[in-house]
Amino acid sequence: MTEVCIGTVLDPVIFGKLMAGGWLDNEKAKVAGMQILRKNKFTCSSCGFVSRSSVQVPHGYMIPVDYAHPGLLAAHGDGGCLCSICAASIGINWSVTIEGQGDSSAGVPGMLIAQSRLTQVQINRLALQVISLLASQPTPQLSKLQSAARDIDAAMTALNHELGGSIPFYRGNDSDFARALSLIPQEYYEQREDILGSLRFWPNVRYWKEQGVYWMKSTFEDMLASDNELLGVVK
Ligand SMILES: [Zn+2]
Repeated sequence: MTEVCIGTVLDPVIFGKLMAGGWLDNEKAKVAGMQILRKNKFTCSSCGFVSRSSVQVPHGYMIPVDYAHPGLLAAHGDGGCLCSICAASIGINWSVTIEGQGDSSAGVPGMLIAQSRLTQVQINRLALQVISLLASQPTPQLSKLQSAARDIDAAMTALNHELGGSIPFYRGNDSDFARALSLIPQEYYEQREDILGSLRFWPNVRYWKEQGVYWMKSTFEDMLASDNELLGVVK
């Protein structure tokens, strides 16, 4: 399992189409992509999240990626399978910018935060649960977990305001910063790594609502039902 780190992609336009499901409109990419997802059993090769294929959502909101392609588009049967959040983390010059988001009223897919104590993958595992819990209908059984998820989301979101103090060159705009980061030439890569030190991606929960509803059904419901210990903790 290769854990993703935050990063930028060379072609954010194609990457955006991949993230928005555009690969399903192209027959070649669809066949190759589904082959990759099936081969990986709909399991994220970075964080280990397992989704499920269904008649309505055959891809289970998992993303087939080819790291050799500038926009990560997989056009052949070999490539990796990432969950949407791990995929969004490696293309912040798409995932924190407004361009290419269509007329989405939910805004941008996410934001940049300063958080050096958790790796991007630890954050993504948390994010998948927070998104799924907050997208679900409140029930007496879920409400305590949902309120914990709301607190986590608020705490993470607040870290966006701390970026200016911990990242040099950050001027209060995620989009400009991500674009500038993607333009740092290769020879300055070490400097780029220094800047990336405590930089992390946190998803905008509203943007991923549709996915959250699905993931709750595909993955978390069974997990919660069998995890009485967890429910006992939050009771
Ligand atoms: Zn993942």
